[in-house]
Amino acid sequence: MRPRIDPVVIEDLGVRYEADVPLGPLTWYGVGGPADILAHPSSDREMGALASRCFEAGIPWYVLGSGANLLVAEEGVRGVVVKLNDDSFTRIQRFSQCVTVGAGADLAKLVIETGKMGLGGLEVLAGIPASVGGALRMNCGGKYGEIGPSVHSLSYMSDSGDIFTLKRDQVEFGYRSCSIKAGLFLSATFELSEDDPEVLRQRILDIFAYKKKTQPLASASAGCAFKNPPTEVSDKGAGQLIDEAGLKGLTVGGAQVSPVHANFITLASGGGANDVIRLIRLVKKRVQEHCGVMLAEEVVIWGNAPITPKIEEEKN
Ligand SMILES: Cc1cc2nc3c(=O)[nH]c(=O)nc-3n(C[C@H](O)[C@H](O)[C@H](O)COP(=O)(O)OP(=O)(O)OC[C@H]3O[C@@H](n4cnc5c(N)ncnc54)[C@H](O)[C@@H]3O)c2cc1C
Repeated sequence: MRPRIDPVVIEDLGVRYEADVPLGPLTWYGVGGPADILAHPSSDREMGALASRCFEAGIPWYVLGSGANLLVAEEGVRGVVVKLNDDSFTRIQRFSQCVTVGAGADLAKLVIETGKMGLGGLEVLAGIPASVGGALRMNCGGKYGEIGPSVHSLSYMSDSGDIFTLKRDQVEFGYRSCSIKAGLFLSATFELSEDDPEVLRQRILDIFAYKKKTQPLASASAGCAFKNPPTEVSDKGAGQLIDEAGLKGLTVGGAQVSPVHANFITLASGGGANDVIRLIRLVKKRVQEHCGVMLAEEVVIWGNAPITPKIEEEKN
């Protein structure tokens, strides 16, 4: 494992930070070890100085959104974790049919605000917990639509701290993926369409009610644990494959394959990140044996946690 990063390497930058911070409370799973440094830049300039310092010093840095698609391993993260929670990264501004929003803004708030403005397009994301940056990085969505098609342009910072404006056609949004893998999004402009606020409000309520009925929203999880396999591999979704392998309700420690939605791995209080990781491995192994499909994680895992199942392990 890499040595801990001493905060002295960023101290002169004037960026607010905390050292040795447990990341669990900042994620929906609520578990996982500490980050060496958790930084809260207050402007693009501070973020640029931090990124460029880390880049030059060979220090890995990561960006944390709402932690809704994230599992932090028990040993934590060696490096700098950035949280864009300063006001300068959470503003929502309207320009005619476009809305420009900071990457640290809460997606649920954006969905409700644009609905009230009578601007349609983002209501399809109702009920998805995310920051705007995390939503873009994961191209979050579901049966009602994804975030990608509403993007007009993005402000992006490379991992060495340079800022670019990217037009919609310079970024590829795929199924739970985006072609920009390194660096971070600072803000996004969405191009929306005029619609009746009352109709949008009702759509948001309907989509939220559907999610509440079909997903274990009250339990600790990171949403869908696995991506649906490509159609050339299987015409079944990951949840259906897990269900057909008879794994609904399967537990490892405090982690459980949700009986409500087989693609959610929930974690009971007292459980740890290792329980989730062991259950992910076990599900992958069992689905491979039963259905001949190797599932890939949708959940992002930070830390050194091998998730490829070993055939001889996990006897239960
Ligand atoms: C109860 C529940 C229901 C869910 N339902 C859905 C659903 O219906 N559809 C769906 O798609 N997802 C769903 N999810 C998963 C999750 O909501 C999405 O993946 C969401 O996009 C994660 O955003 P986040 O801000 O929490 O990202 P995080 O979990 O904090 O991070 C995820 C990834 O995004 C990166 N990231 C974060 N911010 C930035 C940034 N500014 N720039 C670049 N990269 C960044 C992180 O580094 C990490 O790699 C659900 C999760 C939960 C807990």
